[in-house]
Amino acid sequence: MAIEKTFSIIKPDAVERGLIAEILKMITDTGLKVKAMKLIHMDRPQAEGFYAVHKERPFFNELVEYMISGPVVVSCLEGENAIEKYRTLMGSTNPADAAEGTIRAAYGIDIQNNSCHGSDGPDTAKIEVAYFFNDDELVG
Ligand code: ADP
Ligand code: MG
Repeated sequence: MAIEKTFSIIKPDAVERGLIAEILKMITDTGLKVKAMKLIHMDRPQAEGFYAVHKERPFFNELVEYMISGPVVVSCLEGENAIEKYRTLMGSTNPADAAEGTIRAAYGIDIQNNSCHGSDGPDTAKIEVAYFFNDDELVG
């Protein structure tokens, strides 16, 4: 299987509750490696740009408000089958539907405040990593 990169956000609800270390441990326990990481507080244009694919969805404004409500941890993760592996670790968008052992089952509050983001495919992974990191910020 191919070595891939994916993009992760530990979202405001999780950072605010002091869950950075717990979520990072779940990530690294799967064997995924952190290639780049930073704590940031997004501004509105940055969050709107990141979620541009959702701008017609009814929850877009609420989603942007939430994502700028506090700091987040953005990272680039790498490993075998990284995109699908991390999506599986996150669990379903709605924590109420998320499988046991997933980040969202453990820590998600509701369908919006669901603690984490992960890229949903190779094209979005590339775009999302590049949205937050320059090439020279990735180790190795
Ligand atoms: P995922 O993060 O699982 O890929 P989506 O890409 O569909 O899910 O949605 C992006 C984010 O928007 C979700 O993670 C969640 O924070 C928020 N969201 C999704 N659906 C809803 C909804 N029905 N109401 C409020 N927020 C939502
Ligand atoms: Mg998505």
